[in-house]
Amino acid sequence: MRLQAISDVLNPISPLANLSLSVPHRVLVVGCAYGGLSAVVNLLDCDKGKARESYYPDAPDFKEKRSRNGVEITVLDERDGYFHSVGAPLAHTVPKHTVNMWKRFSHTNELRSQRNLNFKHGSLQRIDPDAKVAEWLDRNGKTQHQAYDYLIMATGLKRHWPAVPKSGSYEEYLRDSQTFISKIVGGDPKIPQEGRRVVVIGAGAVGIEFAGEIKTHYPGINVTLIHSRDQVLSSEPLPSDVKDKVKDILVEEGVDVVTGNRAAITELPNGEFEVKLANGTVLIADFVIDSTRKGEPTTDPLPEACLNKDKEVKVNLDLSFQDTIPNASSHFGVGDVVEWSGIKRAGSAMVMGQTAAQNIYAAILNSESRHASPDEQYKLLKLNKWEPVIGIAIGKQCLTWGSKAGMKYGVEVMEGYFGDDLGWAGNLKYVGLTDVEEEKEPAKPEAVKMGEVGVQEISAAA
Ligand SMILES: Cc1cc2nc3c(=O)[nH]c(=O)nc-3n(C[C@H](O)[C@H](O)[C@H](O)COP(=O)(O)OP(=O)(O)OC[C@H]3O[C@@H](n4cnc5c(N)ncnc54)[C@H](O)[C@@H]3O)c2cc1C
Repeated sequence: MRLQAISDVLNPISPLANLSLSVPHRVLVVGCAYGGLSAVVNLLDCDKGKARESYYPDAPDFKEKRSRNGVEITVLDERDGYFHSVGAPLAHTVPKHTVNMWKRFSHTNELRSQRNLNFKHGSLQRIDPDAKVAEWLDRNGKTQHQAYDYLIMATGLKRHWPAVPKSGSYEEYLRDSQTFISKIVGGDPKIPQEGRRVVVIGAGAVGIEFAGEIKTHYPGINVTLIHSRDQVLSSEPLPSDVKDKVKDILVEEGVDVVTGNRAAITELPNGEFEVKLANGTVLIADFVIDSTRKGEPTTDPLPEACLNKDKEVKVNLDLSFQDTIPNASSHFGVGDVVEWSGIKRAGSAMVMGQTAAQNIYAAILNSESRHASPDEQYKLLKLNKWEPVIGIAIGKQCLTWGSKAGMKYGVEVMEGYFGDDLGWAGNLKYVGLTDVEEEKEPAKPEAVKMGEVGVQEISAAA
């Protein structure tokens, strides 16, 4: 059987496969954006006896206690850096943000200098929870294996270009974004074509933010946002007045909004696009952005037994996998990839990443003091499920809503919530990542070892 074959590759004495013989404790983090990165930086600090302040006060308090054997973290990601998906509408619209919103792991001071942190650039193919082995494909298409004691699955949803980058390397991402921006502006972003017509299809959060950013940064471009349903944000569990207000703000910001109309797109021989609405109206566009596609699951590498019908990972409140696979308590899921309440959000992913790190570290310390009484063992933190909340950028304004906080919107709300870069600077500060100065770049970036959305995002999440 295939799974057995994987375990044999790494564990010739397969009866011992489930024993954690390795020293130090090996943690594999698959996916290193909001959720995965939060787990990494928290684990690194726990391992130094300097656990970060916990978002939840009832998390295990390690004081300065350190693991005897230490922790070795391996990160596997299809990207060579941390991409700010929340900022994609800006990164894919304005060149000065493009270059900043992807932080290569090899180019951040805090990630490249850790002796117990390794980065693998590739794509997870299969997890064998029994053998605790991950099978993955490297960038040359070669199959590799990685053994672990603990796994953190943080692969999010597979979102589609241009909601997120389509390539795995920084250089490719720069090229893709440059081409995309030149199609928005009709050439050089410094001299956008006055009167150019851009149509965005789909008024979910992504379409709304793209339409708003294009209009804000290139006011001379005519932006039309088309949605098949009568209200924008139609598939989000939000009150009707919130959706209506979002539409009003879009209009205030200068976006033409068409709702209740499906659109059919035909590319014309002259390179323009015909956009035919269900009501028979025909628009001509210079460029069309499709933001109708939903994110898809990234969980095919996991056994089906640990997934729900939407292919989300079924986790307990402490974020360990439910007991439907071998070694479930050694497997954790965080962020968009798990079945959870509320709207899938970056802030939630970060809180989960910290919790998974704390709980894995607690399990590690407990495993090193097996003779301690149950009272002396660390208790794993259990999260409460949370209510839907949203913060959405609409051009120069932002709207936030939560069932307790109610609705707020305006330019000041934007400044306080997202700043001028959709929350990126605040997030980097919160996580604690700084850029390597160019002249100090390492000779071999690939060999580098490695840890979003600001604190307010997180506050809003819980
Ligand atoms: C345009 C846009 C705007 C958004 N705006 C907001 C907002 O304003 N506020 C908010 O809170 N949320 C927002 N979100 C949602 C937010 O981005 C997600 O909730 C968040 O990214 C989830 O974080 P995550 O760590 O779970 O997954 P992701 O951020 O998706 O990270 C997953 C990581 O896993 C890697 N990966 C995936 N599959 C594999 C594999 N097979 N092998 C190896 N690596 C893999 C990916 O390369 C990636 O690095 C927005 C999303 C988009 C697209």
